[in-house]
Formats: sequence, C-alpha cells, structure tokens
Amino acid sequence: MGKAILFSAPSGCGKTTIIHELMQYFDCFDFSISATSRAPRGDERDGREYYFLSREDFMRRVEADEFLEWEEVYQGTCYGTLKSEVDRIWAAGRVIVFDVDVNGGRNIKRYFGTDALSIFVMPPSVAVLEERLRSRGTDSEEAIVKRLARSAEELKQAPQFDVTIVNDDLQRAVDETRRVIEDFLQCTNSSTY
Ligand code: ADP
Ligand code: 5GP
Repeated sequence: MGKAILFSAPSGCGKTTIIHELMQYFDCFDFSISATSRAPRGDERDGREYYFLSREDFMRRVEADEFLEWEEVYQGTCYGTLKSEVDRIWAAGRVIVFDVDVNGGRNIKRYFGTDALSIFVMPPSVAVLEERLRSRGTDSEEAIVKRLARSAEELKQAPQFDVTIVNDDLQRAVDETRRVIEDFLQCTNSSTY
C-alpha cells in the first residue's frame, strides 16, 4: 500500500484551490480523478477534473463493483472513487490526493487507516462560504442552495478528521497544509518521497 492525502469539506470551502497549489509543490502527488453523474461545469474536461458519466453508466459501474466508495452527494447526483484510480497511482509509486465529500472522506480514511492523512478544510464562517460559492460563479442558484443546506451537517464532522485547516487567507492555509503533509510523509523536500 502507498500513501494518500484526502481533502474533504462542504462545497465552496476551497479544496480545489488548495489542492491546485499543493500539486505544484509536491512532485509525488497524483490526483484521484473521481467519476460523477453531473455535467461538466465551466471549462471542466472529461478525464481531467472528473470522468463524466451518464447516470446509467455510473450505476452499471456500481453494480460491477468498480468503486472503492461512492455517494449520492446531492439528490440525483452521484460521485465516486474508482478502484482503478488507486491502482493506477500506486502502481506509479505516487501519493494519491483525494477531493471527496465528508462521508466519502470518512469512508476512505477508515479503509486506508494510517496510510491516509485526512484533512478537513473549514471556511472562516458560513457567510464567507456562501459568498465564495456565489463569487465562484459556476453554480445555479438551485445548486448553491442545495450545497449550503448540506454544509451545516458536514461542518459538524470536522473533528473526525486528522487535521482541520481554516481557509481564511489562502497562502497561510496552503503553507499550513504543506507543513502537516510534510510531517505525514516525513519529508521536507517535495521530490524526496
Ligand atoms: P471547493 O473545491 O471546496 O468546492 P473552491 O476551491 O472551488 O472550493 O473554492 C470556492 C471559491 O472560493 C472559488 O471561487 C475560489 O477561488 C475561492 N477561494 C478559495 N479559497 C479562498 C480564500 N482563501 N480566500 C478567498 N477566496 C477563496
Ligand atoms: P463538485 O460538484 O463541487 O465538483 O463536488 C461536489 C462534492 O462532491 C464535493 O464535496 C466533492 O468533494 C465531492 N466529491 C467529488 N468526488 C467525489 C468522490 O469520488 N466521492 C465522494 N464521496 N465525493 C466526491
């Protein structure tokens, strides 16, 4: 088994932004591309941010036991981690980076145990979270309402994660995350894992 870093948080807390910064620093990281039944957003591309599947194809893969975990994160929209992603990244000797919802994060942590570092990204406040979701400009009003409604319950789960990072100032949050990951991987140089 290799190592894994997993990021969870309600939508809009800044996981994607923080992961993007860290991917530039840690040469050993490879992002686990999840499958989803939602449509691409903005300039998202199939096989880069997600594998975009039809609902039927997604459920066929569930039946075929192709997922390590999957969730219907929002009503009618499924997301899941394909076992083939884990195999692909570990076969290359790299560290897997997961961006998954809070339930998925708890399941993956349970599965990988001490081989995974689970990080919860916390917004400075719910008001700031709402502002960020709106200013991202990628979601419909209906999607924003769904995401906010789910966030209250998700924020309560933070203590179940190994580390909580408050994403107030982005650079400060990235630096703190980098330090906890270096401790976990026991390396101070991004290329020595
Ligand atoms: P997530 O991946 O958790 O859904 P994103 O990374 O897409 O969240 O961030 C949501 C929005 O908030 C984006 O528009 C992003 O640019 C912005 N954002 C992220 N972190 C910060 C921060 N520390 N300060 C201000 N805006 C931020
Ligand atoms: P978005 O639609 O904003 O890209 O993602 C919505 C939510 O789905 C986010 O909280 C994201 O972390 C989560 N998510 C993405 N991929 C997976 C996955 O493979 N499994 C689970 N459980 N959640 C995921």
